[in-house]
Amino acid sequence: MTSDRYDSIFRAQLDALKDDGNYRIFAELERRCGDFPLAKNHGAGADEVTVWCGNDYLGMGQHPRVLKAMHETVDACGAGAGGTRNISGTTHAHVMLERELADLHGKEAALLFTSGYVSNWASLGTLGSRLPGCTIMSDSLNHASMIEGIRHARCAKQIWRHNDVEDLDRRLSALDPDAPKIVAFESVYSMDGDIAPIAEILDVAERHGAMTYLDEVHAVGLYGPRGGGIAEREGLMDRVTLIEGTLGKAFGVVGGYVTGSAPLVDFIRSFASGFIFTTALPPAIAAAATESIKVLKGFEGVRLRAAQQRQVARLRARLDAMGIPHQPNPSHIVPVMVKDPVKCKWLSDILLDRYGIYVQPINYPTVAKGEERLRFTPSPLHSDAEVDRLADALHDLWSQCALARVVA
Ligand SMILES: *Cc1c(COP(=O)(O)O)cnc(C)c1O
Repeated sequence: MTSDRYDSIFRAQLDALKDDGNYRIFAELERRCGDFPLAKNHGAGADEVTVWCGNDYLGMGQHPRVLKAMHETVDACGAGAGGTRNISGTTHAHVMLERELADLHGKEAALLFTSGYVSNWASLGTLGSRLPGCTIMSDSLNHASMIEGIRHARCAKQIWRHNDVEDLDRRLSALDPDAPKIVAFESVYSMDGDIAPIAEILDVAERHGAMTYLDEVHAVGLYGPRGGGIAEREGLMDRVTLIEGTLGKAFGVVGGYVTGSAPLVDFIRSFASGFIFTTALPPAIAAAATESIKVLKGFEGVRLRAAQQRQVARLRARLDAMGIPHQPNPSHIVPVMVKDPVKCKWLSDILLDRYGIYVQPINYPTVAKGEERLRFTPSPLHSDAEVDRLADALHDLWSQCALARVVA
């Protein structure tokens, strides 16, 4: 059979991945509404697990108001949007959501995409390819979706050292002062949990006449008085040219977006293939996301963000008390450093099997070799008892695995 010939090529490459320890195996989970962060486990290991690596950072994917909005919109409007945005797929729910997003970031306009990945890919691709003579300046730790977007743009690009404002400045100084430039970076980097020096980056970009493209995917809903992200918290939203975010992480639903000036957003709407030629998100998704943003803009959002930070601090304090090494950072992401791919995978398996604790091992190529880690994301709904149980489990395993501790 012809297909055997191709299958053998596929198998050879998959085997190489497995030999390197980089083959990904997915846990098959069933989240149960109302029991966040618990889930039923359909795979090997404990039947019920506590999810410790979710990106539904505040449990909004199960919030009663979000679910109600989704149910009501399904009942009122049906399942799908029925078309691309251009061909009958722009519903009232989409327009309301874009208004809500523009307001969240203090911008004139917003544009929805089917995911954050697509929003980065389509927007950077469109801007880079259509701004004549453009150079994109990309932080070295930018997310794959930005990298792919920049590649798709086929314009000039430079990769500047992660969060290094001087390197950025030096590189911008060497470019034609009159040519268009885009400085593309993130606020919270999801693997190390570090935060970009946004004000300094803006100073440099503005001095060189560059526009700024900020991915706030791991910050929206979580930082700032209304959940607008780090740029909101630091009073910088009006200086960032374009803010990109997701509806799939802290907002608990799915979808991505960009916000900016009316002409900028209209430009992407009018030229981005990844926006134009794909079916619009279901209206129920849009309505649920709008409700989630509204909840997180208000008092309940303030309370949830504070409760999340409290559990993050509790986990860090417990790890410190036991000498378990974790990367210090100013965000909600707690990377516990294992620095060995085999032990990292082993710890993840044992935590699932023996303790009902689910955390994905993070190995190369997601992080550099020798930087292997378990990445914990405490939420307001992880109880004190659950935080303590996790810390105790790590304490046991650290001894069994003969892993290094931090000496106080
Ligand atoms: C997850 C992620 C995205 C993609 O967002 P999705 O809505 O999940 O597609 C973009 N940027 C960063 C930094 C991310 O971590």
